[in-house]
Amino acid sequence: MTRRALVVVALALCAACGSTSARIPLQRAAGTLPPTTTTAPTTTTTPPPPPTTVSLPPANAVMSPRGHPLPVDGQNAQGWLVETPCGKTTTLSAGTPIATPTVVLDPGHGGGETGAIGPNHLREAVVNLAVSQVTKATLEANGVTVVMTRGDDTRVVLTTRSALVRKLHPTAMVSIHHNSTPDGPRNDPGTEIYYQARSPESKRLSGLIYEEVVRALSRYQIPWVGLVDAGAKYRLNSQGGDYYHMLRETAGTPSVIAELAYISDPPEADLLARPEVQRVEGEAVARGILRYLRTQDPGSGYVTPLPRPSSDNGGGGENCVDPPL
Ligand SMILES: [Zn+2]
Repeated sequence: MTRRALVVVALALCAACGSTSARIPLQRAAGTLPPTTTTAPTTTTTPPPPPTTVSLPPANAVMSPRGHPLPVDGQNAQGWLVETPCGKTTTLSAGTPIATPTVVLDPGHGGGETGAIGPNHLREAVVNLAVSQVTKATLEANGVTVVMTRGDDTRVVLTTRSALVRKLHPTAMVSIHHNSTPDGPRNDPGTEIYYQARSPESKRLSGLIYEEVVRALSRYQIPWVGLVDAGAKYRLNSQGGDYYHMLRETAGTPSVIAELAYISDPPEADLLARPEVQRVEGEAVARGILRYLRTQDPGSGYVTPLPRPSSDNGGGGENCVDPPL
């Protein structure tokens, strides 16, 4: 082990024990209280200062000082009670309230939770964010307000993402992903846009985004892959509810999950690594959203899904480490 490695280990140990060592003085103090005596103490102790009271405006969600959008569950004298990117509860004493936007964009995965990884080592989380940023810029250029569930490569658990949607209650939510595990080759892009089974608005949003994304990607002449039942579709769990967390736990906001193309497939992964293709995808998603907001167009590409075995789609908080807020 090199000297540098030793230093790193020492730092890691220190970081791991930080929260424990902070509690030790409290436990020691409790265990060593002086016995009750009849004589007055010879010295007086200074009482601790009262906790600083912070006056903050009420908010449903706040942008933390380091740029993390956090759902707010309440308020106390020290600040807002927020849900962290890892899904824990903490008190935040500074930040900016987030106004309700028209659209929430949800770039899937992030940080150590990478999502699918392409044969060219492209991480789904990175492409999802790049495409979402194009969609956001395009919507904003058209006067539509947007909040993203993450603005950088931070891991954010699904419960924090869906809580943010519920707290902000936007007109629409679009979760942006890239797919893996196709059934086989197709003549056209295997784009899948999942909608909330009981929401006609969510269904129309999915059909409009499907139409725009397939039209935009079809300009590329590559051997596409996909499921045999690709399209604008729903997926149910064993209780008959929406299978995907970001559709089930956002009920009340028309929401879709957009699986734009297959990052697991070599030709598609090579396409997705190109910034101009990310731009084509992002602009197509934005056009679908704008048509949803501004027209009564019905959308297209609706399919009846085949039954699929359930799978673990991640997004939980195991081993999650919150960033500085
Ligand atoms: Zn994904």
